[in-house]
Amino acid sequence: MIELFDVSKQVPSGSETLTILHSLNLTIPDGQFISIVGPSGSGKSTLLGLIAGLDAPTAGDIRIDSESIVAMNEDDLARLRGKKIGFVFQSFHLIPSLTAFENVLVPMEIAGVPDATAHARQLLVDVDLTARASHYPSQLSGGEQQRVAIARAFANDPSILLADEPTGNLDSYNGRHIFDLMVEIHQRRSATLILVTHDHNLAEHADRSIALSDGRVIADRVPVVPPTREDQSFAEVIQS
Ligand code: ADP
Ligand code: MG
Repeated sequence: MIELFDVSKQVPSGSETLTILHSLNLTIPDGQFISIVGPSGSGKSTLLGLIAGLDAPTAGDIRIDSESIVAMNEDDLARLRGKKIGFVFQSFHLIPSLTAFENVLVPMEIAGVPDATAHARQLLVDVDLTARASHYPSQLSGGEQQRVAIARAFANDPSILLADEPTGNLDSYNGRHIFDLMVEIHQRRSATLILVTHDHNLAEHADRSIALSDGRVIADRVPVVPPTREDQSFAEVIQS
């Protein structure tokens, strides 16, 4: 479970103080799929960064599985991320000098994962990229690069997957494929999925959707729109 208690974030801006997130309280149960929407600059990335412990709040407490992360040092935070959190970014963040396979494998080797080679191979199977394993990022399409990034994010079998506009640099077809892949892995592994997206159609597929505006939660609701044929997952359409 992820819990935020009166979490706020302020940054100095000249002689003033800019409030990026106003006091925020949030409880996210294990395995929930949450979408976060809101205009550019509303604080979505800041919120994700705080949950990942990549950034510290100005005030308040953040607990992951009842453990407060706000007072943790960098080593403990890195260990927690390595154990529990996977992150997927809009711009993929792959290492250009490593192949697709190596991009997945190397972080696992550094973390000392047993059978890393076999595990990395399976992760590429999961994202349907076996045929591209020895390609470098520059030789892959945007959708393929994001699939490598997803395989890497799931390398440590995280219980929490944070995705910051992962489909933002992709066309709608590839964006939908990436979205379906993340939802599928979230369901299969019962991982919590927190997805920041500009795409309201995708956001409606979540168990819960939170809207931010100017650093405040302005809506926190369960989407009610029933899925239509058009909303069927990529996998279902391929199979039907
Ligand atoms: P979003 O992801 O919703 O577009 P962000 O969380 O990236 O929004 O940013 C929210 C606001 O905070 C923006 O106005 C942004 O410019 C500002 N901001 C974010 N990080 C910093 C920082 N380190 N210093 C100053 N301003 C920041
Ligand atoms: Mg952002």
